Amino acid sequence: MIIDFRSDTVTKPTPGMMEAMMKARVGDDVFGEDPSINELEQIAADMFGMQAALFCPSGTMTNQIAIKCHTQPGDEVICDESSHVYQYEGGGIAFNSGASVKLLQGDRGRINADQVLSAIQPDDPHRAHSSLVSLENTSNRGGGSCYDFSEILKIQALCKEKNLSLHLDGARLWNALVAKKETPKKYGETFDSISICLSKSLGCPVGSLLLGKKDFIKKARRIRKVFGGGMRQAGFIAAAGIYALQNNIDRLSEDHHHASQIAGAISKKKFVKQTLPVETNIIIFELNDSISAPGLVAKLKEYDILGYAISPNRVRLVVHLDISKEMVNKTIEVFNQL
Ligand SMILES: *Cc1c(COP(=O)(O)O)cnc(C)c1O
Repeated sequence: MIIDFRSDTVTKPTPGMMEAMMKARVGDDVFGEDPSINELEQIAADMFGMQAALFCPSGTMTNQIAIKCHTQPGDEVICDESSHVYQYEGGGIAFNSGASVKLLQGDRGRINADQVLSAIQPDDPHRAHSSLVSLENTSNRGGGSCYDFSEILKIQALCKEKNLSLHLDGARLWNALVAKKETPKKYGETFDSISICLSKSLGCPVGSLLLGKKDFIKKARRIRKVFGGGMRQAGFIAAAGIYALQNNIDRLSEDHHHASQIAGAISKKKFVKQTLPVETNIIIFELNDSISAPGLVAKLKEYDILGYAISPNRVRLVVHLDISKEMVNKTIEVFNQL
């Protein structure tokens, strides 16, 4: 039994999801004729109370399309230094949009309105034009940390006042919604665009959605084609998305419970310097000098437990749909022995 905590992207479709995929009605989505994709986009837009949605192959693409839509070359994007859009999208902000980035040092990936205010450039021809703020909820490198919605509202008011767009990288927004008992509609009312992943916590093989106003999504659809993301009979994977939205959201609290149980065992270990607070399904812990992160990952592998060294002294474990209670118990036993 391999226990794979490397990422919540490693899940495989369940029989129920496979069945939904096999039965999908499909068509050519570039012609707008795939009924399953159209249905998924409608369901997602309705959930968030937003006007429209666009189905894309990845969360990187939905983020990058959003940034492209919100900026002009030479503009500046404001985000946390650890954010996925900056760290893990291959320099895409510069590559795709010709924009620069103003990085802020947030609290476990979360920035606040005062920081955003200080990062907005004055209206001066010497300066880059600040045009977009991008938030991430939950924060990946922040260990699955969640924003306080009151802070998001402050940032939104500021963006409105200063005429900046506000984007949410909500790859794991589902986890935040469940952990904080929030509704998607609150987010839909607050952000100009939202990216959500179906391939992370919800257990789909592929797929992300970009949400926004009608005109914005129209523009995004054009850019998706330019980026090579116009898919054809992709309704087979959209059907997995519909299934996931209907079946796999509420169960996330189970993952969160499992993550906190495992973190409890980890934080007792002498070789662990600190464990970041576990708010959702991600556990990040820092090691002291007795063992390196790659060293511990190799050690865990001897017990068929897979983790990920995110830095020389930090390990990340992500709990997901394919991690059973039995696997959680075995992991706790192994840590107790180490
Ligand atoms: C995984 C992830 C994405 C998108 O990743 P893809 O692999 O391109 O789907 C975006 N943002 C965050 C915070 C992520 O964790």
